[in-house]
Amino acid sequence: MTCDFLIVGGGIVGLSMARNLRSRYPDASIVVIEKERDVGMHASGRNSGVLHAGFYYTADSLKARFTRDGNRAMRDFCMEYKLSLNPCGKLVVARDENERQTLHELLRRGEANGVDVRIVDEEEARAIEPNVRTYREALHSPTTATVDPAEVLRKLRHIVVSEGAKLMLDTPWMGNLGNNHVLTGAGVIDAGVVINCAGLYADRIAQAYGFGERYTILPFKGIYLKYSGEPAPVRTNIYPVPKLENPFLGVHYTVTVDGTVKIGPTAIPAFWRENYRGLERFRPDELGEILWYDAKLFATDRFGFRKLAFEEFRKYSRRHLAELASEMVRRIDAERFDTWSTPGIRAQLLDKEALELVQDFIVEGDGRSVHVLNAVSPAFTCAFPFTDWVIDTYFR
Ligand SMILES: Cc1cc2nc3c(=O)[nH]c(=O)nc-3n(C[C@H](O)[C@H](O)[C@H](O)COP(=O)(O)OP(=O)(O)OC[C@H]3O[C@@H](n4cnc5c(N)ncnc54)[C@H](O)[C@@H]3O)c2cc1C
Repeated sequence: MTCDFLIVGGGIVGLSMARNLRSRYPDASIVVIEKERDVGMHASGRNSGVLHAGFYYTADSLKARFTRDGNRAMRDFCMEYKLSLNPCGKLVVARDENERQTLHELLRRGEANGVDVRIVDEEEARAIEPNVRTYREALHSPTTATVDPAEVLRKLRHIVVSEGAKLMLDTPWMGNLGNNHVLTGAGVIDAGVVINCAGLYADRIAQAYGFGERYTILPFKGIYLKYSGEPAPVRTNIYPVPKLENPFLGVHYTVTVDGTVKIGPTAIPAFWRENYRGLERFRPDELGEILWYDAKLFATDRFGFRKLAFEEFRKYSRRHLAELASEMVRRIDAERFDTWSTPGIRAQLLDKEALELVQDFIVEGDGRSVHVLNAVSPAFTCAFPFTDWVIDTYFR
């Protein structure tokens, strides 16, 4: 088989790439290979479904560049195709004076990125969300919204296929045979360009083409608890102030499209890449590599890894996770956080030399192969403008 563009990975990034390529190159042959039986089986179908606004990221980052526009583009997409969208907004709350200062840093970042955010006092915060608890002020983001990620993926799959791309499910990328001959589970495909959007395995595939040598993926598991009580305890997403030195936003309240409230996700170090449950998909080679880097981070305590790991493993306790969430509201029946919901795993890139978690998206490649690395949160929000930019950068 031959094609002009071979996309590896049927997550939000791979499918958005296929859709954007089709609109740029109406006559090109586009193939998407996905190792699972359906699209969106990993991060893209297992996330919080929050369309972020774009105030966390410094103005020089790709994330800042694409979150604001991605939020708008994904909202438009949901409206055009009548998909669920909950424009519930978001409050970031503080616990003390230090955190209140960080709210102002987030405000500065938001303003620099052209995002609609403002600081509100406690009274205004309560007018937005009567149950919220904060120290003196909160940051309000009216453009944060939630979508149903699985529904978005289904619609994208339908569009991509109906516009003529070939989607090959149950078809893993298995090796680079050289000269853009790609060994897949369905035989060899000769591709004009290979575009690697393989999420948790993007580093391995990039390295087979001589890219991404500096990095490895460290998986971090995000688990969620659902609230079963009535009425729902909050109607707005509520987030804590994040630690700006690491890429995780902290356990927060998400109000899903149907009004269900869940808390999470955690950022618990995972032991292999698809370590969702028990020993499923156990890979000893991955375990060895991950333990090696976790041990290095633990020994050097880079970016406070020891505390992070300790605090995160504690969140396997339902009671502890519910207690953390209780701090952000005035009243809640913590016992009603009683159902674990589908976990997700972040494909977080580690810079092996600097021993740092990479904060921004990384793209490497040349005219023959392009590799999307570190498509971590909020890559779901960013996917449409981000993949457009990749195409502009590498194929023009
Ligand atoms: C817990 C959690 C919460 C999050 N919350 C949010 C949020 O609220 N908002 C937001 O914007 N973002 C969020 N994110 C981030 C967002 O989900 C991801 O950034 C995004 O889904 C990444 O998309 P992707 O297409 O790169 O990866 P994926 O969805 O992982 O897709 C990669 C695909 O490649 C396939 N693949 C891998 N190897 C191969 C191979 N060898 N051959 C063929 N196919 C292969 C995989 O099966 C997979 O389907 C969250 C992520 C997590 C984990």
